[in-house]
Amino acid sequence: MRMSAHLVAPDAAPAEAAAFERVHVQVGGHRIGRDTFTVIAGPCSVRCFDQTLRVAKAVEQAGATMLRGGAYKPRTDPRSFQGLAELGLAMLLDAKAATGLMIVTELLDVRDLELVLTVADIVQVGARNMQNTALLRELGRAGCPVLLKRGFAATIDETIGAAEYIRCEGNHDVILCERGIRTFESRYRFSLDLTAVPIMQERSGLPVLVDPSHAPGRRDLVLRLSKAAAAVGADGLIVEVDESPDQALSDGPQQLRSDTFADYMREVRRVAHGEGRAL
Ligand code: PEP
Ligand code: MN
Repeated sequence: MRMSAHLVAPDAAPAEAAAFERVHVQVGGHRIGRDTFTVIAGPCSVRCFDQTLRVAKAVEQAGATMLRGGAYKPRTDPRSFQGLAELGLAMLLDAKAATGLMIVTELLDVRDLELVLTVADIVQVGARNMQNTALLRELGRAGCPVLLKRGFAATIDETIGAAEYIRCEGNHDVILCERGIRTFESRYRFSLDLTAVPIMQERSGLPVLVDPSHAPGRRDLVLRLSKAAAAVGADGLIVEVDESPDQALSDGPQQLRSDTFADYMREVRRVAHGEGRAL
């Protein structure tokens, strides 16, 4: 059988679909995307009122845009610390009232949505839940800003597909986050895929943040990855900071110390400003 010419793979690459126009997400008085550089900082998990408040004050004074902190933790071992749930949310609310910082916190279970929304300005969907389609649809209906973290075995298209679950319910306030994917490399926790940042921006139009903490799993590499993220055009960072990380109940080794956070911010600000971003 003769093959017709058009079935033979052409040498030229197929035309790329048009890139999406970049949008921003407005959260309270803050705009995420395009011209700004957003820094969301705070502990992996909250564990007491006083400490949460002191960390919140430290990150606020250093110029962070929002406070992060987990009250519901997706852990590998079901017997390990799972977060303080409602009590943890109360700690975040307390810190929010004292500092005025907006709050980013993870929702694990759709049954806790109403409660989480009493505190969260942005609801975080963790890497392990990226394709929990029931959760995504419910967040789509809730209409709140959502920080959707890329699953550690998810492709770029799967990540954008997950964002579509939220968007097709009418909620367009979705922010993507690259936090490292699983590769053959075992010297560190995850491979931070910085190539994905501009590609996710152009393929979705959405703001893309980078989490520089979970990939290295070591605090001494966090600043370098943060500056690399700013240089590659990320719209901001979500970074783990604690007062005494050695006593943290989750992710201690990768958390920055709050008493060094102002120095960290100075370095990050320099690169973000160099990229024309306001911070
Ligand atoms: C976290 O932000 O603390 C977290 C659990 O992140 P991830 O879902 O990316 O592992
Ligand atoms: Mn963590």
